[in-house]
Amino acid sequence: MLYLSTRGHAERKRFCEILLEGLAPDGGLYLPEHYPQVDDAALTRLRTTFQTQGYAALAFEVLSLYIDDIPAADLKALCAKTYTKEVYGTETIVPVRQLEDGLLVEALSNGPTLAFKDMAMQLLGNLFEYELARRGEELNIFGATSGDTGSAAEYAMRGKKGVRVFMTSPHGRMSPFQQAQMFSLMDENIHNIAIEGVFDDCQDLVKAVSNDLDFKTKYKIGTVNSINWARLLAQVVYYFAGYFQATTANSQKVSFTVPSGNFGNVCAGHVARMMGLPVDTLVAATNENDVLDEFFRTGVYRVRGSADTHETSSPSMDISKASNFERFVFDLLGRDAALTKDLFGAQISKNGQFDLSGNPHFAEAATRYGFASGKSTHANRLTTIQDVHQRFGQMIDTHTADGVKVAREHIKAGVPMIVLETALPIKFAATIVEALGQEPNRPAKFEGIEALPKRVQVMKADVAQIKAYIAQHCDHA
Ligand SMILES: *Cc1c(COP(=O)(O)O)cnc(C)c1O
Repeated sequence: MLYLSTRGHAERKRFCEILLEGLAPDGGLYLPEHYPQVDDAALTRLRTTFQTQGYAALAFEVLSLYIDDIPAADLKALCAKTYTKEVYGTETIVPVRQLEDGLLVEALSNGPTLAFKDMAMQLLGNLFEYELARRGEELNIFGATSGDTGSAAEYAMRGKKGVRVFMTSPHGRMSPFQQAQMFSLMDENIHNIAIEGVFDDCQDLVKAVSNDLDFKTKYKIGTVNSINWARLLAQVVYYFAGYFQATTANSQKVSFTVPSGNFGNVCAGHVARMMGLPVDTLVAATNENDVLDEFFRTGVYRVRGSADTHETSSPSMDISKASNFERFVFDLLGRDAALTKDLFGAQISKNGQFDLSGNPHFAEAATRYGFASGKSTHANRLTTIQDVHQRFGQMIDTHTADGVKVAREHIKAGVPMIVLETALPIKFAATIVEALGQEPNRPAKFEGIEALPKRVQVMKADVAQIKAYIAQHCDHA
């Protein structure tokens, strides 16, 4: 399997080459040259694999369709090491439960940081360690986080050989639980840097350091952001696992509703559907930051400025642009790389938006690719959390609540609707208390983490100071 860039660069690469990279050289995103097709017999084999050997075996089978430069035995071992009951709390790894008639919830949030990003990041940690050892190289991951991504990256990379993590976050702005999760890690290779500023300041620092090519090369700076193809690929697996739990025969279809921000999660659903998984509708649920909902309703993709980006109670969906969206648009346009490049390169930088409403392909987003969308607000979130608690005795987090709200608007008779549960309520306790007047349940392993010693360096938003800190903590400085 070879990978191409959505912006038409002539080079083709293999999986392990793009594993440690971010964007393609022309600024595009990597996609496989084609989507491997899973026919009825293959789907039955995967169903049996999942039912008899479990999630890790299913992951190996799906990943094998896209990865041909890691020996099968090694890839199998990496999957087996990643998706365990010890890490995810259940044998099923991503158990599906019924909420109400026709509406199911797939739990993706039982990993180490209680958010769905663990599903991909835990695998990425093992893949990085494997590939770096094979090359005899090191990598220093430098990133910015407002919560979920940074903690998932740190829990995935802690103790891994050849990898260091330098993670900036806005000082004092993450929830106490999120701060405790990250700052209580004592591993030598994990460096928490709290920046006196907001999330944008952290992102600007990452950009400034990445733009210094000499520094970037000398200190082997890399990222783990959601445009990484390996992360997206790992997420494809749980669409299969969800489907197998909700159906008994391949003639049945399901739909998914996905709480969306950067379009990484639902894009994995798109890939699964392109492979032939019987998915009826893929519903992208947004919060007040409705870039995606606007596109699917109107054909206009409009990047928001920072004044136009709202801080909401489902903060992991607070985005100004959807960084994985280019992958879907490339497919939607019949893989027209020149047009994709014009839209995401020229038009976005010049106008901050593009308009596909007049393009005949736009209608196919719904008709051919099964996409739908919806939006949920703070008030919707509170009502949904209250309703689910009162009627079913279950607590759901704010992002999942956005999903449930929007899913209910798209249910079709006879097609199970699976809402992806992207976080546990304890991560966003303040809003749960606002909705229910009580604290969310806390998994036993997180009892009292706020009181643990913290390992964090507070710093000004100063590029020179950050660079000095990174240099000082790299052995070969
Ligand atoms: C990251 C995240 C999302 C958004 O996922 P995307 O892949 O960016 O669309 C939704 N919910 C939670 C809890 C998250 O951490």
